[in-house]
Amino acid sequence: MELKIFNSLTKQKQTVKPINNTVNYYFCGPTVYWFQHIGNMRAFFVMDCVRRAVKYLGYNINHAMNITDVGHMTSDEDTGEDKMEVAARREHKSPEEIAKYYWDICFNDMKDLNIETPEHICPATSVIDDIIKFIQDIIDNGYGYITKNGVYFDTSKFKDYGKLGGMNQNEKKFGARIEIDEEKKNPADFVLWVVAKDNHIQRWNSPWGVGYPGWHIECSTIGNKFLGEHIDLHGGGIEHKTVHHENEIAQNYAKCGHNVVDIWFHLEHLMFDGGKMSKSKGSIYTLASLKEKGYSPMELRLFYLSAHYSKPQNFTFEALNNSKESYANLKRLLLKHKIGINKIEKSKIEDYKKQFTEYIADDVNTPLALSVMWDALKNNPDSIDIYNLILDFDKFLGLKLNEISDEKIIIPDEIIKIAENRKNARINKDYKTSDLLRDEISILGYSIVDKPNNEYEIIKK
Ligand code: AMP
Ligand code: ZN
Repeated sequence: MELKIFNSLTKQKQTVKPINNTVNYYFCGPTVYWFQHIGNMRAFFVMDCVRRAVKYLGYNINHAMNITDVGHMTSDEDTGEDKMEVAARREHKSPEEIAKYYWDICFNDMKDLNIETPEHICPATSVIDDIIKFIQDIIDNGYGYITKNGVYFDTSKFKDYGKLGGMNQNEKKFGARIEIDEEKKNPADFVLWVVAKDNHIQRWNSPWGVGYPGWHIECSTIGNKFLGEHIDLHGGGIEHKTVHHENEIAQNYAKCGHNVVDIWFHLEHLMFDGGKMSKSKGSIYTLASLKEKGYSPMELRLFYLSAHYSKPQNFTFEALNNSKESYANLKRLLLKHKIGINKIEKSKIEDYKKQFTEYIADDVNTPLALSVMWDALKNNPDSIDIYNLILDFDKFLGLKLNEISDEKIIIPDEIIKIAENRKNARINKDYKTSDLLRDEISILGYSIVDKPNNEYEIIKK
């Protein structure tokens, strides 16, 4: 089945059309200057859902993600200070130590949330030479110019600049702080390379002076290095739409002479207390803080799954408690099905699978996919066929359901009934019936251990 994703550029759902059945996929990664909160984690969860959708629908995946460890200013435009430098001063560490410390935590949180690891994870500082070459190509192709402060992208040369964010030439205010460089040609021009001030720690040689790359160029460079000149899907948080991704489109075009990305998609934010969950507002939770409160990563994942990525999701403890309860219920129902002895018609299983796949293929609709899972779990007699179906769904849902299946075994009601009949037969000294019922239980995969006073224990073989 084909995968359709809502393209923020054309504002329509668009079919992913990979070359050679392999989807080239890029997602903007974390800036590793501080803890990633559960809002950030929603972004990487969405990254994972799209990745799993691609795979579930039978495509191969080639997935790249950057780690921003240089050049991301305290505003997403070119103003303020480099976040890595601020963190290095705050914690009396080098920017490298800061990056490693926060990346390790972020990576572990991703693993806890069962977020699959992209094929290529690339810190910006590991590809400075590639970035310099990319910038040189932009200059050579007539889209970049040099000032005493570094290199800028000339937005007036790229006619589609502003299209993604839906802005016309006059409205383009991003990057508009002329005071940073009076040599800037247009207010919207953005920085590709920054000549370092004396106290700036991170610095590399370049043809334009000792300095460091702007934030936007790393994603174009890393995408180009690992995925080439055709990227099927590119995602990120909604706030990247009007600045960061606009700039990526311009850079890619300037280097390659054509559009590189087929489909741009954006996830809406996790909200808390009436606003976006964000560090600057102070109202944040990390995965670690939720674990301390007794919530598991899979309960949080189930919470994330309950909302479509294109809608803001409100975080409340009431909602998280509901997910906690739902996850316990899910486990209980799944274990009952695991030992269920009923047969479910093949066509019914196929219908569930078809419906589930259709919902995923239609813009990765996680709440509807979940509804199929609940329907199959709740509205069928206990059956291993349902159990196997749900484990198949879990390749997309990522709820680690194969792990919970090893937990305590529940004895099915049918078996308990036969065992009780056997007990009554024994009380009545009807040993012939008692033996027949023991054989019946055995055929169904259980054995009975007799205890004093006609008590017994049922064991799964
Ligand atoms: P950063 O580390 O700031 O570059 O952010 C990493 C990712 O988290 C980006 O894709 C952001 O768009 C995303 N993000 C930040 N805050 C939220 C939020 N409250 N909800 C969802 N995603 C967010
Ligand atoms: Zn990016």
